[in-house]
Amino acid sequence: MEQIMQHRGVTVWFTGLSGAGKTTITQAVATELRNQGCRVEVLDGDIVRENLTKGLGFSKADRDENIRRIGFVSQLLTRNGVIVLVSAISPYRAVREEVRGKIGQFVEVYVNAPLAVCEQRDVKGLYKKARAGEIQQFTGISDPYEPPLNPEVECRTDLETLDESVNKVFAALEEMGYLPIHFRAKMAV
Ligand code: ADP
Repeated sequence: MEQIMQHRGVTVWFTGLSGAGKTTITQAVATELRNQGCRVEVLDGDIVRENLTKGLGFSKADRDENIRRIGFVSQLLTRNGVIVLVSAISPYRAVREEVRGKIGQFVEVYVNAPLAVCEQRDVKGLYKKARAGEIQQFTGISDPYEPPLNPEVECRTDLETLDESVNKVFAALEEMGYLPIHFRAKMAV
């Protein structure tokens, strides 16, 4: 029989610039949680935009609608005991606060690297295109990013290793009672 890990539902919301490290940290956290038998769902901004929010653009109204829909699905999953990992730029503070309020069990992770670092990484080659004017409304270049004022976790991915960033996320989930204490420490044993 499949071993099911006891845990509470929660939405862990990773926000930050393109290339800041949201996907990388999310995937690492998801893998570790799944290995421990947790029920995990990942909502990745790029994949969501091909399905749930297909057709939406990058105006403020469309970006907010994108986040509201992701928030709605996260809310359903969270109340059914799933650990939901959302990886989306989600540049606007107000709508992030709105979904936080609706979901309740919510942990905001600010994945923070300076724009210059994200641009130098240019994981998907999008900054180059944005600088060349081939992409409009690109967050950080020609569209705003409003950093969280009081995130539960901040990962400085230009200064810390992936393992350190992942550790911060687990520490917060343990401290806030979403995972048993020393959850990650025990995983290594
Ligand atoms: P995003 O999903 O935010 O657009 P990605 O995860 O796709 O960003 O890309 C982030 C890049 O930064 C990857 O190439 C990753 O290997 C690198 N990186 C360096 N240090 C870290 C760290 N501490 N956490 C996450 N990513 C890191």
